[in-house]
Amino acid sequence: MDTDAGIDYGTFEEGRHVNYWELDQTLQRVIRRVYTDSEFDWAESRLSAFGETVGLTIADNADDIDDHGPELEPYDKYGEVQNWVRYPETQYENERLAYEQGIVADSFEAPPGRDEPMPLSHNLAMQYLLSYADPGFDCPVAMTAGAALVLEKFGREDDVLREYYDALTSRDYEDLIEGAMFLTEKQGGSDVGANETRAEWDERAGCWRLTGEKWFCSNIDAEGTLALARTEDAPAGTAGLSMFLVPHGDPDNTNRDRDGPLTKGQRREDGPLSPEDVNDQYYRRLKDKLGTISVPTGEVEFTGAKAYLVGEEEHGFRQMAEMLNLERLSNAAASCGIIGRVLLESKIYAANREAFGETIDQYPLMRADLVDMAVTHEAATTYTFEAARLLSERERAERGTARGTGDSGGPNETADDAYRLMRLLIPIAKARTARMAVDTASYGMEIHGGNGYVNDFVTNRLLRDAQVLPIWEGTENILSLDVLRALEREDAHEPLQTAISERLEYVSHPALADAAATVEGEFHDLMGALATLAGEDSEYAQLSAKRLAHYVFDVFTAALLLERAQRDLDEDENGRLALVATRFVSRELADRDARGITSGDRFPIEQFDAVVRYTPVEPDSITDAVAADD
Ligand SMILES: Cc1cc2nc3c(=O)[nH]c(=O)nc-3n(C[C@H](O)[C@H](O)[C@H](O)COP(=O)(O)OP(=O)(O)OC[C@H]3O[C@@H](n4cnc5c(N)ncnc54)[C@H](O)[C@@H]3O)c2cc1C
Repeated sequence: MDTDAGIDYGTFEEGRHVNYWELDQTLQRVIRRVYTDSEFDWAESRLSAFGETVGLTIADNADDIDDHGPELEPYDKYGEVQNWVRYPETQYENERLAYEQGIVADSFEAPPGRDEPMPLSHNLAMQYLLSYADPGFDCPVAMTAGAALVLEKFGREDDVLREYYDALTSRDYEDLIEGAMFLTEKQGGSDVGANETRAEWDERAGCWRLTGEKWFCSNIDAEGTLALARTEDAPAGTAGLSMFLVPHGDPDNTNRDRDGPLTKGQRREDGPLSPEDVNDQYYRRLKDKLGTISVPTGEVEFTGAKAYLVGEEEHGFRQMAEMLNLERLSNAAASCGIIGRVLLESKIYAANREAFGETIDQYPLMRADLVDMAVTHEAATTYTFEAARLLSERERAERGTARGTGDSGGPNETADDAYRLMRLLIPIAKARTARMAVDTASYGMEIHGGNGYVNDFVTNRLLRDAQVLPIWEGTENILSLDVLRALEREDAHEPLQTAISERLEYVSHPALADAAATVEGEFHDLMGALATLAGEDSEYAQLSAKRLAHYVFDVFTAALLLERAQRDLDEDENGRLALVATRFVSRELADRDARGITSGDRFPIEQFDAVVRYTPVEPDSITDAVAADD
């Protein structure tokens, strides 16, 4: 590929059988900035190899799984409970490919060629690439990493939990188990404090036993499921919840050759559990869902299931919050991956489809559509991986692993500031990118015309898959309320203020000056709004919470894009991101008379190749280009 000429999307037929990493220069740019130099050196070829695996094999398998997804056979032929989920062979193949390339393992145990694990942002980068093809399968991957993180933090001292941790982080499919998290009950998804599932200590068996119903259980048959339950006399609400690991199979009663958790490899080989190996639970049914078919989501009735307490009693909700941070960022990474795939498919379609005698990407309105989708992709990905970097910083500090020296991986906050800022940025990342993914998937379908609506084209599945992203891991309203909590409890406005100021201070190129001034003004207003809301009553603060969340996203992302644009100018002599950043600012933050209709702006036509086809831009040329946009 001649990088100076940009990517000629007309040479592709579809966005499959290609290397997603190689074609996604947005992800490459973002990852280069958030990894340390040594991390990037190690990871680049591996991300490329994974981008190829996803493009060449996982993408086709994902379409097959969408048509022939997992099925539940709750009973055996004698009517005994077996809780058997039958997967298509293509799904086993996808699992093996993803886990054996280290999608979870690399971020927990030092992979070959490194002395330390990769940061969690590497797990998220691989989830992003996986979601080009199978956002449904990304759900189990995310929960496997989440469960591993929880056990790393709270199960380290416990020999049994250590075994589960080892299996969750295994690089070998034969030794691997997956994770899940069962919170939601009929009476409470958002309101987790309404959970009623009970946990009782069984003296005779020497273990905890769970009783109750869980209403939405994704990856229903995971061996490393974490569930919340209430122990005897525990207080009401979230304060009374404890966390338990509930294996799929009875951990003490297994007709197997070896001890330990029941691995994916064994399950595939041995088939359904025999009735005496069933842990005391019943998988009632799988949900008949709109999308994400590759992850079986069902209803589970615990009927005395054996369980291991994780961490301390009544600390379950707080511990689950650690998992939720990673799950929400996983959701955001999956959203960005969907946006990336939809954009790729749309660019290719538009470069090939002819109407009125020209390919449709020659028409001004289509150029504007594709430019705006590309800017959305840049904004979503840049923001998400900045939040991922903060999460990684904090985990790095907790693990006591050192950061590389002489690297370009962004500013060095204290672990406390990284934590407080991440607490604010993560719910916003999840809320905004999920919305962007649904909107982009919906519009990408339209770019494909009638074809986009039918199942032969992947746009159909991507929209169905995307539609769950705003719902699970917390709806937009619930996340917006969490933003208020982060501001109230963590004083998160303090690290936010520092982070935005530092980024704007770094911006010096004259072509970025107007955009930076616009962001300065909005930054000032945002901080004023935060101060005003802090003095308002809860009802009023809640009314404003969603708008506030989006406002933080817009101002923070604008500052981040401008800073990265300056770095690209300084270090790579490329002005492409400067164009993207100014477009984002004018679209999201600038005041425009008559909605910009009379501005004379021809940016999408003039900068189409740069923004959509990744043609590099001479730094000297951006002053004129940006002036024309004003
Ligand atoms: C495909 C799928 C898979 C899932 N997998 C899992 C899983 O593996 N594990 C799991 O635990 N859960 C899972 N869920 C459940 C999911 O997390 C919940 O559905 C979600 O959190 C919403 O909870 P709810 O369905 O009870 O809706 P509710 O909590 O009843 O919410 C209904 C509406 O009310 C709004 N609302 C609620 N409270 C407020 C408030 N205070 N202010 C303003 N608005 C409010 C919400 O935003 C929402 O729009 C899954 C869901 C789906 C669809």
